[in-house]
Amino acid sequence: MFSLTFLGTGTSTGVPMIACDCPVCLSTDPRDQRLRCSLLINDGIAQWLVDTGPDLRQQCLRANIRHLDAALITHAHTDHIMGFDELRRFTFGPDESLPIHASHATMNDLRRVFDFAFNGHNRYAGYLKPDPREIEGPFRLGRTTITALPVLHGKVDTSGFLFHPDHGPRIAYIPDCKEIPDPTMQLLQGCDVLIVDCLRLTTHPTHFNASEALAAAAATHASKVWFTHLSHELSHADFEASLPDHIRIAYDGLVLEW
Ligand SMILES: [Zn+2]
Ligand SMILES: [Zn+2]
Ligand SMILES: [Zn+2]
Repeated sequence: MFSLTFLGTGTSTGVPMIACDCPVCLSTDPRDQRLRCSLLINDGIAQWLVDTGPDLRQQCLRANIRHLDAALITHAHTDHIMGFDELRRFTFGPDESLPIHASHATMNDLRRVFDFAFNGHNRYAGYLKPDPREIEGPFRLGRTTITALPVLHGKVDTSGFLFHPDHGPRIAYIPDCKEIPDPTMQLLQGCDVLIVDCLRLTTHPTHFNASEALAAAAATHASKVWFTHLSHELSHADFEASLPDHIRIAYDGLVLEW
């Protein structure tokens, strides 16, 4: 069993956006209500999060998360890290810590923003006690090999992740991206599932718009594609109706299983 739960599929503002009366923000379709991007993955042996955005507490309650073996961080933008301290619920015991996997640059940002957790002065019961694991190559969680997928996304060091459970599908997750460099594109060739940034229809300086996301999906030759990190400019029902059958739009609470 390998399961992937979309805990959040919205862009940095979330959808609905504060103080907006557009049709998508007022939509009654629950798929148009998007918390900030996060995944929960369970490979039957280990369970981990990807990103800890500002909605993490609500997401953990909604998905009834009882235990974590690790958290992975794609990059240090606020919509992906500002719920980091909620992880303390998973390190409640005085000797419990939680492995945090991130690139060197992202870990440096985490250490700066959450100094109180990393500086070692607060190793008490009930506090967040991260165990930093800087990513230096493919690593294992449970029965899954995980490979970082560096991408270009504005000025911040950013990685997606490729998940490959033993004898299972190759699943790539790239929530924030403007350009996929060649070495990463090679890692993505022929992956079974691609989950990728698709912010809106119009161009954005640091995110894929729909035509860029479609082009990236075609270049990987992924057999199944899910779009995520949507803004309020895209209505789930209307946008999905315009897409080819093998490309669908993720929504909060969607669970994929293999
Ligand atoms: Zn983001
Ligand atoms: Zn709106
Ligand atoms: Zn970002």
